[in-house]
Amino acid sequence: MNKRYYDIVICGAGPAGLTAAIYARRAGKSVMILEKSTFGGQITHSPKVENYPGFAEISGNELADIFMDQAISCGAELDVDEVLDIIDTGARKIVVTASETEYSAGAVIIAAGAKHRQLGLKREDELTGHGVSYCVLCDGAFFKGKDVAVIGGGNSALQDAVQLSEICNKVTVVQNLGFLTGENSLIEILKTKNNVEFIFNNVVSGLEGDTDLTAITLQDTTTGNQMRLPVHGIFVAIGQEPENTPFAGVTRIDDRGYIEAGEDCLTGTVGIYVAGDCRTKQVRQVTTATGDGASAALAACRYLDSIK
Ligand code: FAD
Repeated sequence: MNKRYYDIVICGAGPAGLTAAIYARRAGKSVMILEKSTFGGQITHSPKVENYPGFAEISGNELADIFMDQAISCGAELDVDEVLDIIDTGARKIVVTASETEYSAGAVIIAAGAKHRQLGLKREDELTGHGVSYCVLCDGAFFKGKDVAVIGGGNSALQDAVQLSEICNKVTVVQNLGFLTGENSLIEILKTKNNVEFIFNNVVSGLEGDTDLTAITLQDTTTGNQMRLPVHGIFVAIGQEPENTPFAGVTRIDDRGYIEAGEDCLTGTVGIYVAGDCRTKQVRQVTTATGDGASAALAACRYLDSIK
């Protein structure tokens, strides 16, 4: 077993992890970032980002590259490796990975993000960013004056539908059940909108369009009948999936799978911090992830300096 020693090990190289690395390096700490798949995280799936200050318009890939370059030029090290477990031995934390390498750290920052639950349809990945979206805050403005569908009937879906109804021509809410599960207040708001329609007991069974989405196929869950709904975009709001299982031994995880922490990014376990989409919070965006990265790194640095 190969063992490597760092002041701080960061789990996840999305905006939160990369920002944490920049702050920790600038405070003089040795830093290893472990990433199991795509350096840059979720934002690399977005063809156009228009709400990150400093860039009127930039692709998610370009933005991620800028974060990466800055972290590397500050002296952070990066490895492709999946974190499987963190063992808290007190002053040192042992980060167990899928490779033969074991990382020993004075402090650990968990920045493992979250994934939007997908519909699981053929071509869903290919059409993401081309009509299929999981984030109204990120992509809603691209569908101004167009016809869209929101998939889901819970609070997130209904909030999305309210927002979209302000800018889109028509919003169809597609719910797999015979009723909406979101709050009554949201349902009442939507009932007053004359550009919002509801289709109940239907699931999306197909996506149409060559390069951009042009229509979806809906299947009635009771009769099995299919219908075609022409739309320029769909917003899938059927929940998020944080991937926090490897961290369950050293953090408190809420019933939705998020690591419990406030803006201070403290997990309740000394020397272990959490940043970005994987923690309990209201707004999951690049701005909030980078803010967390800074807070978590500075908290980790203060802790390491206090035990010198
Ligand atoms: P993530 O970006 O999810 O990064 C976490 C990283 O950790 C991932 O790379 C993951 O592979 C890695 N990881 C997970 N588990 C492990 C493990 N066990 N070991 C090692 N590595 C691990 N936000 C905006 O502000 N503006 C937008 O326009 C916008 N558009 C978006 C469009 C799309 C299609 C999507 C999906 C998201 C969009 N977002 C947007 C949201 C934004 O991308 C996220 O809020 C942000 O990326 C969260 O950053 P993060 O670092 O917390 O997590």
